Amino acid sequence: MIADQSEHAGQGAKELDPCPLENRPRYPARIVKGKVIQPERPLPVIQETDVLVVGGGSAGFAAAVSAARAGVKTTLVERYGYFGGLWTGGIVLVVISTHAMENGRLTQVVRGIGGELMDRLGKIDNAITLRPKSQINPTTDPEATKFMMDEMVREAGVKTLFHCWATDVVMDGGTVRGVVFESKAGRQAILAKAIIDTTGDGDIFAAAGAEHEQRLHAIGLVHRLGNVDRADLAKLKAAGYKSVGAIEPLPSVRWVNLRGPSTNGLDIHELTRLEFEHRRSIWERVQKMRKTAGGEPLFLLQVAPQLGVRTTRLLAGTHQLTYQESREPRKFKDVIAVGGAQDGKHAGWPIPYGALLPKKLDGLLTAGRSFSMDAKLVEDGRLIGSCLTTGHAAGAAAAVAVQSGCRLRDVDIGKVQKLLVSQGAYLGS
Ligand SMILES: Cc1cc2nc3c(=O)[nH]c(=O)nc-3n(C[C@H](O)[C@H](O)[C@H](O)COP(=O)(O)OP(=O)(O)OC[C@H]3O[C@@H](n4cnc5c(N)ncnc54)[C@H](O)[C@@H]3O)c2cc1C
Repeated sequence: MIADQSEHAGQGAKELDPCPLENRPRYPARIVKGKVIQPERPLPVIQETDVLVVGGGSAGFAAAVSAARAGVKTTLVERYGYFGGLWTGGIVLVVISTHAMENGRLTQVVRGIGGELMDRLGKIDNAITLRPKSQINPTTDPEATKFMMDEMVREAGVKTLFHCWATDVVMDGGTVRGVVFESKAGRQAILAKAIIDTTGDGDIFAAAGAEHEQRLHAIGLVHRLGNVDRADLAKLKAAGYKSVGAIEPLPSVRWVNLRGPSTNGLDIHELTRLEFEHRRSIWERVQKMRKTAGGEPLFLLQVAPQLGVRTTRLLAGTHQLTYQESREPRKFKDVIAVGGAQDGKHAGWPIPYGALLPKKLDGLLTAGRSFSMDAKLVEDGRLIGSCLTTGHAAGAAAAVAVQSGCRLRDVDIGKVQKLLVSQGAYLGS
């Protein structure tokens, strides 16, 4: 596929082939009595599927692979052109909470689809690494992670649509029956028997009117430095740069986190302001380092293409998991995942199915950083480890509900747990 690096590849002045014009009905908005009104219009239904996963971050990836492997027709829709969300596009890279102290033993709790992804990254050069002296919380290379997610999604037989932005829902009373998307192909719909909202921001459950809350959180922007091995870190340290960044699997590259101000991640004016401000401050910081003794060889390798929005909407689930419950830790009959300890030192915390299930809305589950948790648990619940495991659980539960022909809230949790365990998930000791 990648044959020639020259733009013209020796083709000369070739005339381009014509492409038939699309013949799409138009329904432009109009100004009526001072208001912009969009007319009612029929939407093309481009697919009818069993499980529709919206958002291909760590949670959506695991959900789609799990559902498809369980044997149901699965579609995954993503607004960008790659999987991984904040992990790969936000260049977050460090998978925290992979382990917990279970019965006095350091135990891997992120297993199943997420564990398999990391194992497979381990077989590729420069794809995953552990920090010195750490047995937990690996850092992965974003391109290798995207590549391996592509492989696993394709192998599982998931139908993927990239470059589609979900904007609305198709409702039938109190049940979500489908999702409406915008893309270069216009406004279209996909219908499904079960929908999983892994947009991170709860875009789908909010559009469907599910009860939820919204939180402000620090919004940052991650960047990467190149040529670090050629810099003199001792000199930089003496000049006040305690660290140039955290190690990555790629040689001579470091990643640098940025917390940023606590603000509303759904406000486009704030998001725009922070893109400008963070990019400028990163640029200036790196230029300053390059002018400091020891820092001359450094360069700015990359600024994350995705802004680092940590938390926005949180579902009000049939069970809101609390920080207190996570530290007791409380056992649940409907456990579908186990959260890890950031430092590996405390016990794993069981996550109940109720934390993925809306109080009233039918036809939908959520997973990842928007599942139902109290504000204090967010610092654990939003980590990539918990996003992978709750995503895996949502995919398995949706598959079982479809196969049993029942509502998501009536699913036989024993069957879901059995499927999860058969797919390698850890549900506690
Ligand atoms: C700056 C920063 C640093 C962090 N550091 C760490 C760390 O060191 N370790 C750690 O474990 N965690 C860290 N986190 C948290 C962690 O990265 C995220 O919480 C986690 O990756 C979220 O995964 P997710 O799948 O729930 O959501 P996301 O990764 O946000 O994925 C959501 C996906 O849905 C897509 N999407 C969104 N809306 C729509 C829509 N309307 N239509 C279609 N697609 C849509 C997005 O493009 C994206 O691919 C950090 C977060 C940030 C922001």
